[in-house]
Amino acid sequence: MDHFIYKTGVLHAEDVAIPEIAAAVGSPFYVYSTATLQRHYQVFEDALKGMDHLICYAMKANSNQAVLKIMADMGAGMDVVSGGEYARAIAAGVSPDKIVFSGVGKTAGEMEMALQGGIRQFNVESEPELLVLGAVATRMGKLANITLRVNPDVDAKTHAKIATGKSDNKFGIPMVKAREAYAQAASLSGIKVVGIDVHIGSQLTDLAPYEAAFTKVAELTEQLRGDGHNITRLDLGGGLGIPYQRDNSAPPLPIEYGEVIRRTVGHLGCEIEIEPGRLIAGNAGLMVSSVIYVKQGAERKFLIIDAAMNDLIRPAMYEAYHDIIPVIEPAAGIEPQPIDIVGPVCESGDTFATQRLMPELKSDDLVAFRSAGAYGAVMASEYNSRPLIPEVLVSGDQFAVVRPRPTYADMISRDITPPWM
Ligand SMILES: *Cc1c(COP(=O)(O)O)cnc(C)c1O
Repeated sequence: MDHFIYKTGVLHAEDVAIPEIAAAVGSPFYVYSTATLQRHYQVFEDALKGMDHLICYAMKANSNQAVLKIMADMGAGMDVVSGGEYARAIAAGVSPDKIVFSGVGKTAGEMEMALQGGIRQFNVESEPELLVLGAVATRMGKLANITLRVNPDVDAKTHAKIATGKSDNKFGIPMVKAREAYAQAASLSGIKVVGIDVHIGSQLTDLAPYEAAFTKVAELTEQLRGDGHNITRLDLGGGLGIPYQRDNSAPPLPIEYGEVIRRTVGHLGCEIEIEPGRLIAGNAGLMVSSVIYVKQGAERKFLIIDAAMNDLIRPAMYEAYHDIIPVIEPAAGIEPQPIDIVGPVCESGDTFATQRLMPELKSDDLVAFRSAGAYGAVMASEYNSRPLIPEVLVSGDQFAVVRPRPTYADMISRDITPPWM
């Protein structure tokens, strides 16, 4: 559920009319709903009620400072995957003892930064990383809490580019090598084993892969305890999918996901950490764009809009589907017609939808991409020298620009002409 609905025929974000925002900030732009972000966080809190737990928002989904602040104010921890994300989490006021550090390629510099500023735990993904972390921590006179991310070799049944839990993915340590790796971890100075980590992929629409993975984690917990390790935390990753296509997909609810957690690992007495990103931010955001031209091609009609693949890359990168709706509700009884919805970038991949059924639109009409709050703005670039589009946050009847659109001068001034020119 979200807070983007038509009121008297005009799409609103909470109590703010989308055309009002467009008039103030120009098109295209992202808009996020505070109430939806809060609601989605709370749904996970409710799902894990009664268990000792921490929800670490996977901020790579949407790392705008305003979004992070909303999460931090709700009590969320953060899952970070780079030094930059760590810095953003700290800047948003997240307590370091609620920040977990994930990622296959943490550098010594990033480890040092997190150890200096404080960190809840590192989710270590390989033996070489373990050795570097041990060395960095020892040199600094610190003790790094770690989990090892295990790769349970389960098929998450999601898009290949976002599946991470099969043995041929780059992520984690193979289950069969886990006990050996834990023994090594326990022998290193600077390292303190605290738990186990697993994350099998993103946009999961089936609970069975979770059930399989968490069951393996439970077995491993018992084995590792038998080996003498003090396993007190289980980080179960993120990845719960969202409905991108309103009419025909209903991914599992967080409450059902919570039941799987309870059933598989609830008896172990561990503190449970989860790292949801997409489910919190995805349906809390729209990308709004306006029609530049309606073009009749040889065989097809094209809706050329002012947003492009550099603003929202998911369709080009993952063949992702986004609902695209007119901001002014079409009159009842209008028969929608198929049209290709494309951006202005000079690549055929700059296509948001093919033969999508849309009501008739004309130049300057606004359209909204639903489910654009996660992996939207954070993956944007300035390809074709198109300035990053602004981000707007709505709360009730108020809205504010939370990241402005750079001017052309801003964009150009980041380049430096060398002195010899
Ligand atoms: C991407 C990622 C997440 C979040 O995934 P969502 O699908 O956005 O919930 C959580 N943990 C790790 C380690 C990740 O890489």
